[in-house]
Amino acid sequence: MVQGVGFRPHLYRLAQKHGLRGEVANSPAGVELILEGGGDKICLFLDQLQQSPPSGSLITALTEEDLPAINYSQFSIGPSHNTGSRTALAPADFGMCQDCQEELEDPADRRFQHPFISCTACGPRYTLVNSLPYDRPLTSMADFPLCSACQKEYNDPASRRFHAEPICCHDCGPRLTLFEDGGENKANPLASAAALLSDGKVVAIKGVGGFHLAADACNDQAVGRLRTIKRRVDKPLAIMVRDLDTAAALAHISAKAQEALCSAIRPIVIMPIKAGVPFSKLITRNIPEIGIMLAYTPLHYLLFNQAPQILVMTSFNEPGSPMLTGTKEALALLGTDCDGVLSHDRHIITRCDDSVLRSHGDEILILRRSRGYTPLPIALDQSYPAILACGAGEKVTLCLTRDKMAFLSQHLGETRSPISQDHYRQACSHLQNLFHISPEIIAHDLHPDYFSSRYALEQTGIEKIAVQHHHGHIASCMTEHGLDQPVIGVALDGTGLGADGTLWGGEILLSTLADFKRLAHFDTLEMAGGETAIKEPWRLALAWLHKEDLQGSELAFLTNIPPATKNIVEEMLAQKVNCPTTSSLGRLFDAVAALINLRLEITHSAQAAMELEAIADPDETGVYPFNLNQKQDKECRIIETKELLQGILADLKQETPQAAIATRFHNTIIKMISQACLDLSKEHNINEVVCSGGVFQNRLISQGLKQSLEEVGLMVYCHQQVPCNDGGLALGQAAVAAARIRNLSSSKTGVSHA
Ligand code: ZN
Ligand code: ZN
Ligand code: FE
Repeated sequence: MVQGVGFRPHLYRLAQKHGLRGEVANSPAGVELILEGGGDKICLFLDQLQQSPPSGSLITALTEEDLPAINYSQFSIGPSHNTGSRTALAPADFGMCQDCQEELEDPADRRFQHPFISCTACGPRYTLVNSLPYDRPLTSMADFPLCSACQKEYNDPASRRFHAEPICCHDCGPRLTLFEDGGENKANPLASAAALLSDGKVVAIKGVGGFHLAADACNDQAVGRLRTIKRRVDKPLAIMVRDLDTAAALAHISAKAQEALCSAIRPIVIMPIKAGVPFSKLITRNIPEIGIMLAYTPLHYLLFNQAPQILVMTSFNEPGSPMLTGTKEALALLGTDCDGVLSHDRHIITRCDDSVLRSHGDEILILRRSRGYTPLPIALDQSYPAILACGAGEKVTLCLTRDKMAFLSQHLGETRSPISQDHYRQACSHLQNLFHISPEIIAHDLHPDYFSSRYALEQTGIEKIAVQHHHGHIASCMTEHGLDQPVIGVALDGTGLGADGTLWGGEILLSTLADFKRLAHFDTLEMAGGETAIKEPWRLALAWLHKEDLQGSELAFLTNIPPATKNIVEEMLAQKVNCPTTSSLGRLFDAVAALINLRLEITHSAQAAMELEAIADPDETGVYPFNLNQKQDKECRIIETKELLQGILADLKQETPQAAIATRFHNTIIKMISQACLDLSKEHNINEVVCSGGVFQNRLISQGLKQSLEEVGLMVYCHQQVPCNDGGLALGQAAVAAARIRNLSSSKTGVSHA
């Protein structure tokens, strides 16, 4: 990763320091450097380069070669080469650096209050690059020829902007415009946008990877309006503040959370809310956590000079569609979906949503890996062929592999609407072009109905490999940790298609990268009405009662369901009509949330489980009884849930608080799984447990289970670089495909695969 991070200027200064001559240039493979001078000086040069490379850079390989002397008179930065192997890495988008912020605020600086200030260490990259090498003509900054003052800095080895590609100034850079009802305002766009926000209006703001919708977070009416526009009833919204001090007044920030918040990635970090915060209750609804990001562009900083100090910042998109990137599209919604559009004329080449982390005590969990991370590679422990892995049905990302690197795309989200499907196709071809990868193999989810699977199956003349959803999850986490020996994989998830045609999601697998065997799973529930049961968790609670023959006519949640609907669902369950079964743990969370009358219907995915986690009483230690060894399904154990249900019903009868039941449920799940893992680890003589799947976004489960497994002496591996949810799945799909190809070729050549 040596382009767009000030690498050539760094080499220039290092060469000056050691009195070496030669030249350096960007090439399709990275950087080519020719040094002339004493051999010991060159050794020293290379030592120092490897010991302290410029921040944001990454040297994946360094090869040396002796050349005949050219007799350079000095060291210079030459024009980029266009031939040779195309293996250069593209940089990610970086938040504004401290040096640029100081200039932004310095009235004596010629870039004082310039909304597009940047340098070799900061600014957008991935979202504005068309192709590599990373040179200005190949970015959307090509539309803005450098003025003579900027050109001078660009050419001056002593400048922070020496060969910094996206630089510009008041004279030569992009222009801001505010569009309102009354027309365009180019004279004072920032002040006018800030005035609209202070006035409780909703403003669309062009950011790095797309438009945000912003509103005053302390104004109930403004936040309410924003929720109506987004048609988002309950899903928590993220906020943006100017700096760490402002954030610290709103949330409990751990050391790790602080590091993440302030990093060049500038993700949204979800943290526990402090008491007495001034922002609207409508932002977080029932969840005691708040997602905060710090201002990351100079435009954001300037806005905070005049606008309200806490802004809701949520991506501007129509439901089910990707974030808007074009001013035209945003203007089409002016007057209906927003009251102002703050835009500029620098094009966004690649759409990229904000990244999201969740702060877990002193741990950080990655929920969405997007802006700031993409397109930086995940390191693989062996060389992969060119594979495209397509992801699943929601939180979609795709993955391309080359050599020992996996490139995970930005968050592509849902793929149900035609416009989001176009976005998926574009992202796929853009990444292939950017990295010059022509896939030889396509890996996709076993479920044939996902758009991603259909896309894979449409491609012709290329080998396709279907990967079972939960095997993909486990393989993703194994790949992060470089594991390929058999492991015990714990996949706790929503629903995914299983190898037997039913829906899985509460699985313990004996897994290698190439293959898996189902060792145990949660007892199944019937989803009356199929997908509808996911949106209406009460159907799952009813199915559970029905399955275990425990009628609970006195239960409070039943009185909240229209009797006619309830009768239909009961009939469906009795007749087993449109009732696919699932072993998903996510669905069991839903059932419990409904059973205790906490959440009967949901408006966004995992809402019931999030609320169940949120209300759990931290001081409660109770566990419900459970039984692991009674039932078997072929060779697979079944983790029974009948006694769990009986325990919850007894608690409800005694009017035990919801908070205690919620904790006891979490505790029981942890105990069930760790006991099952311990039994299976002895049986199969395997010590490594690999955890993946969307349920691990739940802090109580991920922390509790890890602790519980470690206490009995097992080695536990969790996700660190990619999300445990379906956003990390494509990495696992690629790993499974690569392992199967390796096995195939080794069996052909007679070499056995260890
Ligand atoms: Zn900077
Ligand atoms: Zn300029
Ligand atoms: Fe999943």
